[in-house]
Amino acid sequence: MLNFVIFGGPGSGKGTQSDKLISRYGLHHISTGEVLRGHIARGTELGITADSYISKGQLIPDELMIRVLASVLESEPEKVKNGVIFDGFPRTIEQAKALEELLAKYNSTVHAVIGLEVPDEELVERMINRGKLTGRADDNIDTIRQRLSVYHNQTSPLRDFYQAEGKYHAIDGSGDVDQISERIHKSLSDKLPGLAEK
Ligand code: AMP
Repeated sequence: MLNFVIFGGPGSGKGTQSDKLISRYGLHHISTGEVLRGHIARGTELGITADSYISKGQLIPDELMIRVLASVLESEPEKVKNGVIFDGFPRTIEQAKALEELLAKYNSTVHAVIGLEVPDEELVERMINRGKLTGRADDNIDTIRQRLSVYHNQTSPLRDFYQAEGKYHAIDGSGDVDQISERIHKSLSDKLPGLAEK
């Protein structure tokens, strides 16, 4: 089992680069944002709770979010057995610790954290454009500002957390999608020489 975390601010290209990683390494993708948006679309109880946080640009509380991730992992044992790209999780140190505990049940761990580094002004511009193209509800300027502040205060400390473990790969996340994907591949294969492509 080979597990990657794709990490970065809102709008940093986590979803886009996850798609590239899936086709390159054949891993399973779990985006907690997509899981939550699915619940909102279906009007489930979790969706109603999640929407009250997402629409304000706040994080879903750790305890609830960790339960959601655990149930996604448990419900898809066949899909996760070769490894997972965790997209949007963890977002706090507490979630990172919980992820280690969950993966320990598979005798596994997080092998690498891919940190997409993009300046704030570029993130804002990308999210405004994505909002226009997709109609994504939290891609409006007020929620974007709140999400950026939450990212800097609550999520970016994870960079140091994973750097201390020697797992953090800083990737320049600006520019062409394929060039960014190549930067990721180079950084991962330097560190994980046995990394097999599909
Ligand atoms: P994303 O699609 O990853 O940008 O996530 C969209 C929104 O879902 C975030 O702004 C949070 O409100 C919520 N969310 C997604 N993942 C998490 C998480 N791991 N912890 C807390 N909230 C999350």
